Amino acid sequence: MSDTLDPIVRTWIALLDSAEVLLRTAGGRDPGAFDRVHIAVDLLLKHEHILTAAQRELARRTVWLRDNPEPLPADTSTWGHCHCPACLLDAQLARARQHYPALLARAVDIALPQPTPTTQGELFA
Ligand SMILES: [Zn+2]
Repeated sequence: MSDTLDPIVRTWIALLDSAEVLLRTAGGRDPGAFDRVHIAVDLLLKHEHILTAAQRELARRTVWLRDNPEPLPADTSTWGHCHCPACLLDAQLARARQHYPALLARAVDIALPQPTPTTQGELFA
């Protein structure tokens, strides 16, 4: 790995490599193996979340060039995206807002009901 890379990008690559090694070597007879893989992936995604889109794209490009003899894929437009659970949920909500604006507005009403006259004074008493 190049020492000229941004340390935060190098860390992401090291976390990815670590998670892949743990996954490859996880044995079915080791009950803690998949817990360690889960922890490694969780750390990778938490780290990924703090990277900028440009840093994520650079990290994925660096790994691709290191591991693949083929040229880069034609479409790398998603390489800057974060895959942590919070960002995936945010992206799903953004798509839902685009496709079902009325449904989503109704869902917010259901999730956040307004106080009714019978409970208004009781909530903060
Ligand atoms: Zn994220």
